[in-house]
Amino acid sequence: MRLTAVAQISVDIERGPEEGEPHKAGRHPNTCPVCHSHYRDDELVAALRVCRQCGYHFPVGARERIAQLTDEGSFSEIAADLRSADPLAFVDLRPYTERLSEAELATGLGDAIVVGTATVGGRSVALAVMDFGFLAGSMGSVVGEKFALAADLAVAHGVPFVSVASSGGARMQENILALMQMAKTVMSVDAVRDARLPYISICTHPTTGGVIASFAALGDIILAEPGALLSFAGPRVVQQTTGETLTKDFGLAESQLRLGHVDAVVPRGELTETLARLLALFTPPPEVEEDGVEEPAPEPAPGAFGWLRRLLGRSGG
Ligand SMILES: [Zn+2]
Repeated sequence: MRLTAVAQISVDIERGPEEGEPHKAGRHPNTCPVCHSHYRDDELVAALRVCRQCGYHFPVGARERIAQLTDEGSFSEIAADLRSADPLAFVDLRPYTERLSEAELATGLGDAIVVGTATVGGRSVALAVMDFGFLAGSMGSVVGEKFALAADLAVAHGVPFVSVASSGGARMQENILALMQMAKTVMSVDAVRDARLPYISICTHPTTGGVIASFAALGDIILAEPGALLSFAGPRVVQQTTGETLTKDFGLAESQLRLGHVDAVVPRGELTETLARLLALFTPPPEVEEDGVEEPAPEPAPGAFGWLRRLLGRSGG
């Protein structure tokens, strides 16, 4: 009973306009919900889907996110042909199978996550990137399986594991099978940790429900995009349930940074460089000279992670 209730908790993922501003219903997807600037597709892609006027971060699909984060042409996908079954023959307003087909047509993806290997700043990683456009980035058995396969790749190749979360939580159409993915993905993170490999979790808007309650919150380093909602349930639900008056930034990346739940809030334009710098701190340099003398690791620029460098230096890591 209790597990079913968890699966059915609704997550408030609305964000954008300040109080008193018009609701974004009916808004063109290329129109900024905060300042109403409008962009052509190519302008938005070139700007990494960040509003040039006010800094609002538009949603990014999995494939575009991979292109933003990884070295060009380096991504190699695995398990692209995995598809969800419908073991519960679930029907809400429409059959689950119909929703799956529609999501695949809309996104070109087999499910709400894309996994594989790539290089970032020349360093190899295993990568798992979620796509909110596929059934609200919900985690069902295929998302859990693909996440686990990506973690396995990290362990097999001895490379860091990087995930980018964007999810409304567990996929209610798969009920307990979806909730089991929380345990499964946590075990995968554990396997990466047991192999003494770094796991970097990047949380984007929104990272909620069963995803923030499992792997997304378990990164050795947790990065978040500005303004992203990172909360088990949305502020409206929490306020209604507890009767408490919440702070205006409840659940947002900035408040989670203040509370110590994330390590840095990184604007999208700095995300790739930040990730590359972290990987440089954690992993040996990618190239070894022919005479066997390793090239010195590039000196990371001083910045938000100076503390980490010092810590690694002290521990001899
Ligand atoms: Zn704007």
